[in-house]
Amino acid sequence: MGLTRVCRAVRVAACCAMLGCGRGDEVAVVTEQRVMMDTVVSISVYVASEDSSSAIRRDIDKAFAAVARIDSLMSSYTETSEVAEINRRAATSAVTISADLDSVLQTARWASAISHCAFDVSVAPILQLWGFGTEHQGVPDSQSVRELLPKVDYRLLKKEHGTLRFAKPGMAIDLGGVAKGYAVDVAVESLQGAGYRDVMVKAGGDLRTLASPLTAGRRYIWIQHPREADKFFGKFRFDSGAVSTSGDYERFFERDGVRYHHIIDPQTGYPARRAVSATVLANDSRTADALSTALFVLGPERGIALADSLAEVEAVIVSIAGDKLAWRATSGLAPRLAIIQ
Ligand code: AMP
Ligand code: MG
Repeated sequence: MGLTRVCRAVRVAACCAMLGCGRGDEVAVVTEQRVMMDTVVSISVYVASEDSSSAIRRDIDKAFAAVARIDSLMSSYTETSEVAEINRRAATSAVTISADLDSVLQTARWASAISHCAFDVSVAPILQLWGFGTEHQGVPDSQSVRELLPKVDYRLLKKEHGTLRFAKPGMAIDLGGVAKGYAVDVAVESLQGAGYRDVMVKAGGDLRTLASPLTAGRRYIWIQHPREADKFFGKFRFDSGAVSTSGDYERFFERDGVRYHHIIDPQTGYPARRAVSATVLANDSRTADALSTALFVLGPERGIALADSLAEVEAVIVSIAGDKLAWRATSGLAPRLAIIQ
């Protein structure tokens, strides 16, 4: 980990934040990146002078430890996570859940309800059938998809007195659409608790910032171009809050020229086709994360109508017709958005 003068930034998946350097003020940033949660997690602390960098490094370590703890609870990729334990047992008995899981499931339930099930963590059995990112990934036969659809419904997740039970056998949960956002929140809270007022935490397509007068008015969010890895689609100025992007370019495979990606429409059991990326701004990262997945599934019309109806939420959804990109944004974001394409 090094102490770096800003105006240097790494291009990353989905979206990223960079400081504009027009004013020429000196800002020092202590930053570290680690591969965690199946992505790159980066934590940055912005300060006026480099003097306290070793103390900052220790606090960044603690924030990474908080992310690692959330990963160990919520990962879908290890047999030892709390989620794996729930998926093994909750169809036969009520399983006691941690406060973190309880909190994430609360966000998930809210996102499911407002999106009319476009977001649904109980889509897990269908995700397992597709096997994205595993050796057995492939297009399942339609009969198998149809048979699993009745097991996908968040209302069948029975949460009572700190326990979770599945109302049907064969159900499972996958927190891939919200856990990274939650981990980002936990890391930001850890740094805030240690007294920092200007930070950025990023995990793949989910990022959250706190801005002090040091960086206020200087940070831009750059949205990844959905079809060209080394290009950006657009940018907007952003101080404090959370931004998440969901895209069909993050995890996918191709068969016979068709792209099959990891965000499933719970109504059909197939990859959602209405959008190629959805970017959401919210006050916290868990909300932005769950909503970006939900809005991706809903697509430009219903997705932006939903975001426009929510206080303190903005969004832009990109779709594709032929090889032409189109976009639609909330009335609060559209005037701030500079499209680059
Ligand atoms: P994100 O990149 O935040 O949109 O999350 C995508 C991940 O969410 C996928 O890799 C799955 O683990 C999970 N997922 C896929 N489809 C859905 C859905 N409709 N609702 C909730 N989670 C989903
Ligand atoms: Mg998400």
